[in-house]
Formats: sequence, structure tokens, C-alpha cells
Amino acid sequence: MYESRTATFHDEYVSLATVDGRIEANHELPENPARTPHQQYLFNDDSDITSAELHRQHGEWQLHICCTADVESDTPARAATENGTVLGVDLGVTQLAVTSTGTFWSGDECDHWRREYEKRRGDLQEHGTRWAHENIQSVGREEEGRFTQTLHRISNELVTKARENGCTVIAFENLTGIRERTGASWGHKWAFNRLYAYVEYKAEAHGLTVEQVNPENTSRRCSECGFTHPENRDGTHFECLNCEYQNDADYNAAKNIGLRYLRQN
Ligand SMILES: [Zn+2]
Repeated sequence: MYESRTATFHDEYVSLATVDGRIEANHELPENPARTPHQQYLFNDDSDITSAELHRQHGEWQLHICCTADVESDTPARAATENGTVLGVDLGVTQLAVTSTGTFWSGDECDHWRREYEKRRGDLQEHGTRWAHENIQSVGREEEGRFTQTLHRISNELVTKARENGCTVIAFENLTGIRERTGASWGHKWAFNRLYAYVEYKAEAHGLTVEQVNPENTSRRCSECGFTHPENRDGTHFECLNCEYQNDADYNAAKNIGLRYLRQN
């Protein structure tokens, strides 16, 4: 018999205490990852593994795992759209921001400028004169000004979206570690932090609150059925291996962010 002190459960493998110390064993699962009950629970974000029993049968080891799940949270997607109290926002590189109501702000515009400004700075650098050096700094200020302006516009539009949809809360994923998760540059990270700060004070002016939720698996989880699997997502496309729900991957993530806030509170 194993419980949390003697076993650690991961998606891909399990770590078990034995008389010879800890061992790690990979899960051997059936071919089709979606249609088996144990996979359904093992990869489901909504169920927690609480204990397990190790059996030896027909010459092989089998681990029987026990899960608990919150049944009330079974149809979270519908609850969110019906009471519409939270607007989920996913931040990223391709799409700078996507809401759970399906509004997209593309990252292309910002990337295009960054390249433009970079080129201008590069051209000036080649001059190497004092005049050029001063100009590089003013190009930098101009770039920051333009960015700031865009982020102000997006944050205004985000708050407007929340109000139009009768939301009282705007939920973002926790910004800690977002660079590693999304492959964003430092520039993007700067933009995410700025955008968040702008939304926060603008929302407050309208009596809305802004919250951050745990980002774990928000891009791998199906916002319709809760099935969580790395292969649900293929780049910008999301297709659930369990229920076949398909949509834009960032939009699906934005819905999960909103749902996670609802479930936590
Ligand atoms: Zn699904």
C-alpha cells in the first residue's frame, strides 16, 4: 500500500519507496491514450491521486491507483459562461493576449516594430559618431513610448471587454516563470508585466479586481471536459484526445484560466 509519503505520482512515472530505497518506474499505458478510464483519471487535472496498491500478477508488477475528483466541478465551462463573472486572459508570444470570450490581440504588431527599431539602431550604430549615439538613445525612448501606448490601448480594451460581459474579476495566469513557459523574450516579459499593471489599475477604477491563478496545465487541459494531456495541444491548435473538442490553443487556455479562478473561489 502506498500513499503520499511513500509514493510520488507524476504524469509519466511514479516514484516508489522500497526496502532498497526509492525507485522510479515509467507508466506503461495502452496505445490509445484517450479512451481508457485510468488514463482519463491519471491525466485529468481535476482528479488527484491519493494512494496506490502495488500488485504482482502473471509475472508483472501492476500499480492500482486511487483518485479523488470533485464531481460538482464536472461542467465548469457552462458555469463560467452562464454567470459570466470572470474574464480569463492568456498571455503569449503569437497572441499577446486572448480572452475567454474569444478576443485576440496579436503579437505581430509589436514584433514588427521591434524589428524596425532594431534596424534603425543598427544603422545608427554603424555611424559610430556621437550624434549617432545620442540618436540611438532617442530611438529607444521612442520605441518604449510606442509600446507603452499600445499596451495602454490593449489594457483599456481588455477592461471594456470585462465590463461588456458583466465580469467582476479579470484572471491572468501567474506571471512568475512565464518566460520559461511561453518561450517569451525579456521584451515580452516586460510587456506582460506592464499590461498586467495597466489592467490592474484601470480595472480597479471600475470596481473590478484582477487576480493571478496557478498556470499549471492551462494549455494542456481541455476547457470542455477537463481531460489534460500534452498531446491535446499542437502549436496553436488544440484538439482534445478525449472529447474531440477543437479550438485555438490560446483561447482554450484563456478559458481554463477563468475556470481555474472560479474553482479556487
Ligand atoms: Zn475534452
